[in-house]
Amino acid sequence: MTIWGYAMSTIKFFNQVNKNFDKAAALTEHPPGLLKQIKICNSVYHMTFPVKRDGGTIETVQAWRAEHSHHKQPVKGGIRYAANVNEDEVMALAALMTYKCAIVDVPFGGAKGGIKISRYKYTQSELERITRRYTYELIKKNFIGPGIDVPAPDYGTGAQEMAWIADTYNSMTEGQLDAFACVTGKPVPQGGVRGRTEATGLGVYYGIREACNVPEDMKRLGLSTGLAGKRVVVQGLGNVGYHAAKFLQDGGAILVGVAEYEGAIYNPDGLDVDEVARRRREHKSILKFPRATDLPTSQDALELDCDILVPAALEDQITMDNAANIKARLIAEAANGPVTADASEALLAAGKMIIPDMYLNAGGVTVSYFEWLKNLSHVRFGRMSKRFEENINRSLLKAIEELVGKSFSSDVVSKIALGADEKDLVYSGLEETMCNAYQNIREIRRNHGDKISLRTAAFLDAIDKVALSYMDLGIFP
Ligand code: GLU
Repeated sequence: MTIWGYAMSTIKFFNQVNKNFDKAAALTEHPPGLLKQIKICNSVYHMTFPVKRDGGTIETVQAWRAEHSHHKQPVKGGIRYAANVNEDEVMALAALMTYKCAIVDVPFGGAKGGIKISRYKYTQSELERITRRYTYELIKKNFIGPGIDVPAPDYGTGAQEMAWIADTYNSMTEGQLDAFACVTGKPVPQGGVRGRTEATGLGVYYGIREACNVPEDMKRLGLSTGLAGKRVVVQGLGNVGYHAAKFLQDGGAILVGVAEYEGAIYNPDGLDVDEVARRRREHKSILKFPRATDLPTSQDALELDCDILVPAALEDQITMDNAANIKARLIAEAANGPVTADASEALLAAGKMIIPDMYLNAGGVTVSYFEWLKNLSHVRFGRMSKRFEENINRSLLKAIEELVGKSFSSDVVSKIALGADEKDLVYSGLEETMCNAYQNIREIRRNHGDKISLRTAAFLDAIDKVALSYMDLGIFP
């Protein structure tokens, strides 16, 4: 199966994740049995079910849900719809979810689901039947529930699928007050939280910005401090890639290249991400974009001259076959597993820096956590405090006006006298999470004399945190 130009099934993804795990584990003093328990995937449910196509024919669909670690519950992770979904991939992605949640202090174990379909070959009603049937299978085997396992969007899924899952779960579990917390990434009217759609891309932006603001690291890479003016290439203009590109562009970076299935486009003077996205919607292709050069394959974009490369599509994009050709100094893994373990070594040896996936794309699950909390509390963030804050701010401004004998313009008042609404709070919670986690990983790297990669530092952080949970459970001494 070839997607995004690479033979994906030839590289065992879970092995790649475990290779990275082992490297960090060797630096710890945890007992081998505990490390093994942290690493293995606890449970995998493989199902096959029939789906009736609109034309009346019956097709068999394969699907999985892997629960990697139950050290905290519920377990959490997205569901992807893709033709190349397989058991190894789902287990690898579930493992990454465990480590990701630990790194950003989201109190969940890791899980991941997948349905082996190319969603573009199915109609909306067929997708609805597949999604509802998948949910039904998960319910039957106790693989879904607000305190058990909480899916979310991933590659090939979005708010619509999550709404079908929530509705199926709700209709099959009578009187369960928290039923809508069984899945996150729902549309806002169905219990979603504002800011979830863009959360992963926004988190990618916060993470890259944080990395670019460290003068020593930028100096070592031969780059200036700060995001402004940095030339960025983004592979994948899906939900994560689009939003990452959008926030990076708004933050002062220059988007010089974009890649999609059909090929890539390049303009050293910059591309406007919204115009590129609009063109793709209208022409079903990003190619032939005004004033840009076409590149025949998505892979070509990875080798473009730029400062920051953001692979935001699928795993195994940078391998030993193309690692030596990567020109970017900073590789920001917005996708899960876009750089193989060997290729990571090669890039680091070439003096480049990689911001690892399990940290960088954790914005999605962070905001999923906020959504889950909202569903359990049954109240919108900011509802109790927004007007209170606004009134306090107005009183403060009034007191200052009386003191200085001058009035603020209505413009200034309306800008300052604001109470935080749900989106403000979600953005600020996400920013706090991503910035803290980055500094934490950097600190761990520093504690190892800057001789380990950010990925190994992130793994060390995750391993220690998961190990601690097991010790709290009293299973290991
Ligand atoms: N699919 C996303 C990820 O890989 C989000 C998972 C979630 O929100 O549970 O991180």
